[in-house]
Formats: sequence, C-alpha cells, structure tokens
Amino acid sequence: MAFKDLSLHSALLDNIKLLGYNTPTPIQTQVIPAAIEGQDLLGIAKTGSGKTASFVLPILHRLINKGVANQKTRQPKVLVLVPTRELAIQVAEVFQSLAKSLPKPVKSLAVYGGVSINPQMKSIFGTDVLIATPGRLIDLEDSNAVDLSKVEVLVLDEADKILNLGFQEEMQNILTLLPKERQNMLFSATLNKKLEEIKKVLLHEPKVFEIKEKAEATELINLAGYFVSDKKKGPLLRHLIKEKGMQQVLVFASSRQRADKVAGKLNKNGIQADSIHGKKSQAERIDILEKFKSKKLRVLVATDLISRGIDINELPYVINYELPRSPKDFVHRVGRTGRAESEGLAITFVTRDETHHLKVILKKMKRYMDIEDTAEMDF
Ligand code: AMP
Repeated sequence: MAFKDLSLHSALLDNIKLLGYNTPTPIQTQVIPAAIEGQDLLGIAKTGSGKTASFVLPILHRLINKGVANQKTRQPKVLVLVPTRELAIQVAEVFQSLAKSLPKPVKSLAVYGGVSINPQMKSIFGTDVLIATPGRLIDLEDSNAVDLSKVEVLVLDEADKILNLGFQEEMQNILTLLPKERQNMLFSATLNKKLEEIKKVLLHEPKVFEIKEKAEATELINLAGYFVSDKKKGPLLRHLIKEKGMQQVLVFASSRQRADKVAGKLNKNGIQADSIHGKKSQAERIDILEKFKSKKLRVLVATDLISRGIDINELPYVINYELPRSPKDFVHRVGRTGRAESEGLAITFVTRDETHHLKVILKKMKRYMDIEDTAEMDF
C-alpha cells in the first residue's frame, strides 16, 4: 500500500514526500481510510507507530475538502486532547509540517498549562485545529477564549495517559461542551477498564485497530545489561559514553533529584548533559529538548513521566541508570531507541538485588539480555 492509494489530497501527498515518509505505517493504512469516511474509531497504538500522522492526514484532508479552513472565529473545527505539554507541541508540529502550502491555510495551535494563558487566548482567534491539555482547555473555555460548539472532529491522543494523570473529570466536562454530531477518534497504547468506559460513552460503532507493531519493533532493539553497584553507576556511565563514543544518549533516572545529580556529575566530568523532568519550566523543557534533538547536548537525563510522548527519531542509545518499576515503562524507555527501522542499543544498569525484578520485566517482554559483571572491569 502506498500513500497515493489512500485517496489523500495531492497537496498532502507532496508534504508527506517532503517529510521523507515513503510508505504508510500499518496504523496509517488502517486508520486513514476509515477516518476519511468519517467513522468513529479506536486505535490501540503506541508512540512510534506513526499514529499521529494517521489522524492528522485525514483531518487535514477533511478541512481542505470542506474549504472552510481558517475562519476568523474562536471556534475550532478540530479538537485534539493530549495528556502533556510535550505531546501538544509535538502534535502541533506534525499538523504544521503536513499543512504546508495547502490550497487554503489551516491554522493549528497547541495550548497547555505551565505557561502564561494570555498569548494563548489571543492566538486562538482563527484556529482551525486546537491541540490542548484538558486543564488548560477548561481554563480557556472559562475565560470565553474558545468556543467548542463547532467542533466536528474530536481526537483523544494517548487517552490512557490522560486518564492516568487524573484528567477524567476535565474530559467529561469538555465532552459536554462539544456538539453531539461529530467524529471521534480515540488513541491509546493500552486498553483498560476506565478506557472501556470512555470508549462506550464516546464512540459510536467504532472501527477498532490494534497495532502490535511497537512490541515487534522492540525486538529489533539490542539489549545489554551491566551488574553494577549504586556507587559505581556514575563512573560506569562516563566510561560507556566515552568508550562507545556515544554522541546522543538518553539516560533514565528514577527521580527528579537523581536526574539532576546524574546530569550535574556528567558536566563536572566534561560531558555535556542536562536533565528534563516535571519540575522544570515549560520554556526550559522545550529549550533542552531542542538542544538534545539538534545534538548540541550530548546526554539528556530524563524521568519516566517525561519519557512518554517524547519523540526523538532513531536515537542510537538509551541507558537505564535505574530500573523502572513497571515493565511497561521499561518497554517505553527502550522504545526511544532503534525507531523507524534503525537499530538501537538499550543499556540497563542492574544492582544485584534487582536481578529478580529485571527477570520479570524481560519475561514479560519475551526477551533475553546478556548481563556483564562490572566487578572485573576497569573504569
Ligand atoms: P508517532 O507514532 O506518531 O509518534 O510517530 C513516530 C515517528 O515516525 C515520527 O517521528 C514520525 O515523523 C515518523 N513517521 C510517521 N509516519 C511515518 C511514515 N509513514 N514513514 C516514516 N516515518 C513516519
């Protein structure tokens, strides 16, 4: 299946080419035709599957065909709800890069908390596609900065995470502000009980697509482990970065304090590093992420909350400085590497008393990992 077989507008095909997408991913071949038909749908797919473009493309196709894009109102036609600021910005970027040089311009805007609300209030004017975190959207609605009564398409992206972050009430509240007649698309990495409920309320005879691609993709990722005491983790990290000549490494730490400490220690030893976590301001987070993406920063130390939704393509190395508690987080972390069909290496530091926990994780992933003992290593 090629993009041109998906009946997308030719201007979109041009933009797809510019982005360097050659063939649609499995979620795209399934979701795009159903979405163009105007169906409600549920996509079980993770970050990395190409899920964002799978809803962005049919939405832009719809806006082009309707020819009503960019009205000078505060009434967006499309609402995309996302759990985090990072994801809001990322989704807006995908909209913007796929909406270049369309017959009529389509304006998309990301709104999220943690930054001043005033510029967002002003920018909403003339927005066709609003990408929002639930809390900020409600604040904007309360201030009459946005009118949701003309929304034709609603997308819930990473719906499981929206619920996990406790946005259920906000979400229900938002649903009451939308017109009843609309198309609904729900995307989630997993399907749990709460999500089943939302699905029942939200979706009408939905088409369901389940993409297991990411699990398969993690099979392509090389896993390596090191038995190491807590004390020796810092020296081991520096040793590996130098020895393997790593130029772009994402390191996962268990807490904000730990992330700051690891980054600080690397800097002291002449390895350019920074940390990213929920305590940093939005402006700082964007700036750090940009620096890391453009390889101006060699090491980024992150916490799990931040890891979700960060989209950095083809990251060569991920290091688990500490084991995450849940296997899901482990998969998510190592999934940052080896994406888009390029191989990656995910390295895990394990203390002896974590051996059992690691085994549980690997069993769930159906993977095996060689673990080297660092006791005899010189670093
Ligand atoms: P997502 O799952 O939406 O976070 O997308 C993961 C990454 O895959 C993003 O960096 C996209 O730019 C990229 N991508 C999306 N669709 C395609 C495609 N058809 N071919 C190649 N890369 C793609």
